[in-house]
Amino acid sequence: MTPQLLFWIPAALRFLLFMAVIGVVWFFFGSTEALAAALIGMSWMVFIQLRNLFRLSNWLDNPGDIRLPDGWGAWTDIFARLYRMRRDDEKNQLELSEWLARFRQAMSLLPDGVVIMDDVLFLEWCNPAAQQHLGLQLERDKGMRVTNLVRNPAFIDYIILGRYDQPLTLTFKDRKLVMQIIPFENRRQILVTHDATDAARIEMMRRDFIANASHELRTPLTVINGFLEIALAQPQLDAVTRTAHLKLMTEQGHRMQNLIGDMLTLTRLESVDYPMRAERVRMPELLEGILEEAQALSAGQHHFTLEVDGPDLSGSIDELRSAFSNLVTNAIRYTPTGGSIGMRWEAHSAGPRFVVSDTGIGIGPEHISRLTERFYRVDKSRSRETQGTGLGLAIVRHVLLRHKGTMSIESVPEQGSVFTVTFPVSAIANEFTPLPELD
Ligand code: ADP
Repeated sequence: MTPQLLFWIPAALRFLLFMAVIGVVWFFFGSTEALAAALIGMSWMVFIQLRNLFRLSNWLDNPGDIRLPDGWGAWTDIFARLYRMRRDDEKNQLELSEWLARFRQAMSLLPDGVVIMDDVLFLEWCNPAAQQHLGLQLERDKGMRVTNLVRNPAFIDYIILGRYDQPLTLTFKDRKLVMQIIPFENRRQILVTHDATDAARIEMMRRDFIANASHELRTPLTVINGFLEIALAQPQLDAVTRTAHLKLMTEQGHRMQNLIGDMLTLTRLESVDYPMRAERVRMPELLEGILEEAQALSAGQHHFTLEVDGPDLSGSIDELRSAFSNLVTNAIRYTPTGGSIGMRWEAHSAGPRFVVSDTGIGIGPEHISRLTERFYRVDKSRSRETQGTGLGLAIVRHVLLRHKGTMSIESVPEQGSVFTVTFPVSAIANEFTPLPELD
């Protein structure tokens, strides 16, 4: 049945019932009484309607506090429907505020900044990331114009030009930010900010690395090419000169080989796809092997000592061998003939540590914090003369990062240096540490 019929049929039935009652009065008591009864009945009905209208108007003033009356006749249905509407409305409002709370919580967890502004850029809302990126404070700045809060010429130009389909990259409060305005609804705009400082730093490091690596490779290549050109132009070169040239070319070839080897090691250590396979590293064996190699490299020019008095480690044998031998090789290369080099593996309350000390040329304090940067050298020519690549300590740093170790450097120019690498207690091998696989 349609709503119209649902309304009119009961109303018509009620009216017919009323008329029947009046007819009965007429039949038994006469027309005057019937008219009086009709008048009283009508007045009663008008009173009932007015009373329900009054209750309805009262309820509309305070829908939350007053209960809707049950009503009578058609009013029962109207009140019931109003009551249902009110209940649905309350439910919707609750859902909406829960949804809004969830939305705000999600927004506050976003690493990117979100600023909601009206069409004339007055701040309505922003998340914590935006507060951090742009130095805003929602309570303080709400209702203020964003261009007055973010005082940056590039940002103002971006707003004036209105080319919002393109993001804007700018430096703001020492951070590199990528921003974009997205118009939404009719009269609102969202400003999204992304902190690209780290990405820009990594990109710069990558560019520097490529530039440095190309430069490092170009030098030996130029030397080799130079000698090859001489050999081509002067086929009759005497044997002594020829041998000298070949020796120099071989040295440069080795230099390139070392450099590429170290670059590959660094790349592998940095790669997330290259997880570390921890195994038991027998420290006495490892360090004795390194001592033997060091003595061969030194060719009797230095005095060595080795003390091993610490536990075995759980880690990658190859990586630890590479890090330790880089430290020892450096000690040899930067210690003049006749100097001493000490190696000590010891237990310590902070965790086991490896100490390499030398009586070499030492390092000025201004260089120490930069030594682990790639290609950083205190004395470029000395490093090259001794086949250095400038990547040794960068490799040590990466190996330590992967083993949760730390390195400290103490050095006095002209007296010597002490490199100490400390591992956490958790890196000590225990009965569960797998033994290394046999080759
Ligand atoms: P390199 O291949 O040039 O030795 P590293 O990364 O191993 O590169 O070392 C960086 C720089 O730190 C070296 O160029 C050198 O100047 C300095 N250095 C490293 N170890 C020592 C040491 N034991 N004594 C003096 N200087 C050192």
